[in-house]
Amino acid sequence: MFDYKDKELNYSKIRAYQSCPTLYKYKYVEGKREGLTAGGSLGVSLHRTLEMYHEEGNKDELILDYYNDCWIAGGYKNAQEQNEYFLKGKQILANFLALQKKCKGTVKYIEKEFIISHQEWIIRGKIDRVDKFADDSFDVIDYKTGLEMDKTYDVKDSLQLAIYTLGARKAWNMKKGKSSLWLLAFSEIISTDFKDFDDNKTLETITSVGKKILAEEFYPNTEHCEHCGFKNRCPYSTSSSG
Ligand code: SF4
Repeated sequence: MFDYKDKELNYSKIRAYQSCPTLYKYKYVEGKREGLTAGGSLGVSLHRTLEMYHEEGNKDELILDYYNDCWIAGGYKNAQEQNEYFLKGKQILANFLALQKKCKGTVKYIEKEFIISHQEWIIRGKIDRVDKFADDSFDVIDYKTGLEMDKTYDVKDSLQLAIYTLGARKAWNMKKGKSSLWLLAFSEIISTDFKDFDDNKTLETITSVGKKILAEEFYPNTEHCEHCGFKNRCPYSTSSSG
């Protein structure tokens, strides 16, 4: 049986808790599965495609074959919506290849996991990609496949990149570099220097969420119900379609 007192944390768990503690409880305490959404399904299809692309030696001409192999048909309202998203995904892959051509580093890791311990906590992370440069600096990269973007977003506020930077420094001893989000739907890369992240602050954020989880503070936060995979089952849902 799932042990929710397990003191192992990762970005997905923390993001779920920060989004809605009840959502965290459904997913990680009760082990319930979220319903598939169109955006989520497209995201998984694209991440698997990019993983296969790197594993098979970065062959641009085969990326659409990988996409067809990795396509997940679930989560769409009907065949027309599925087709629309499939075409959006193709454009995202074209954007990816264009960004890839501008890269000056070499790919060092793909889907690489780190594990660190802090006090009583184990912190894990899986990073989409890490590039290495000639000056021994690194680029810690997360691929974002979302179709919506907040233009005011400051990458220095990314808890995900803060956690990945913490892992790169503590688990792999990477001293200098940058951390980047590849916003594939917008053909944009936003980066910030490792120095912009304070590891102590990141650890404080992680452990403070961990303590609330152990205290079973699982109240509902209904701000994000519209995009929640439990909106059709959750009694607190305020979603108009829930
Ligand atoms: S439907 Fe709303 S209240 Fe319920 S788990 Fe999801 S986000 Fe939380």
